[in-house]
Amino acid sequence: MKFGPISAVAVAAVTAVGLAACGSGTPGGTSGGGAGAGATSASGETVKVGIKFDQPGLGLKQGSDYTGFDVDVANYIAKELGYTPQFVEAISAQRETLIKSGQVKYIVGTYSITDKRKVDVDFAGPYFIAGQDLLVRADDTAITGKDALNGKKLCSVKGSTSAANIKKDVPGVNLQEYGTYTLCVDALKAGSVDALTTDNTILAGYAAQDANKGKLKVVGKTFSTENYGVGLKKGDKDMCTKVTAALAKFVSSGEWQKSVDKNLGPANFKPGEGNPPKAAACA
Ligand code: GLU
Repeated sequence: MKFGPISAVAVAAVTAVGLAACGSGTPGGTSGGGAGAGATSASGETVKVGIKFDQPGLGLKQGSDYTGFDVDVANYIAKELGYTPQFVEAISAQRETLIKSGQVKYIVGTYSITDKRKVDVDFAGPYFIAGQDLLVRADDTAITGKDALNGKKLCSVKGSTSAANIKKDVPGVNLQEYGTYTLCVDALKAGSVDALTTDNTILAGYAAQDANKGKLKVVGKTFSTENYGVGLKKGDKDMCTKVTAALAKFVSSGEWQKSVDKNLGPANFKPGEGNPPKAAACA
């Protein structure tokens, strides 16, 4: 049977409702509630959307409140496509699985576009460019960049490009791979690791948290390019085209800049060169 665009949307709607109806456990983490400020009218189809829950400035869950730049992107897409988003935690290692199994409709979670991931999922974007950096204790003067990491205990997260990049770049590092970045932050503060590596956006958010002020600092020498994309089911070109249009509007309307100022401004984070990027055409 052939589906025109309208039937395809109808089928997608039925599938998503079916999933929502029997959706109990989500291996990616706990299920979130409605979306707050950016949520659309209750008549919009409810879809599960993967975000990070523990990355201040990007994706943060506090009670029933969801904040951050990625949350704004996720809500904007939902508004444009007529969805009511229901947030689900998408930790780094489970993003492809959550998308492939249909447990989420899309993911906006500091998710770098890579060829390896493109085997399993599609991406709309990029909508932001970040770079990998290091977070160390404020009194550390030894770790001045990735070249000083040999023999050091370094924390990163399973399934992230951060862990993959550093294994390749600094084979002599003692890499500990945890499930989330907050676990790495705790280990860094406790002294059980010497540094944490991931995107500068994420690290800036942790360094600026009240609980970490004066205790942690970002080294400030980025050594990768991380193009953030919206993770989508492979082959769903219709969805990719709609999300790409929403991303373009997010930038042209001024909402991109507003959201950056609101969410990354408090950590004094300034987007680097190439921002805001122009989203690529869907394959
Ligand atoms: N942007 C990198 C990635 O997609 C690191 C951040 C993360 O793990 O979410 O793997």
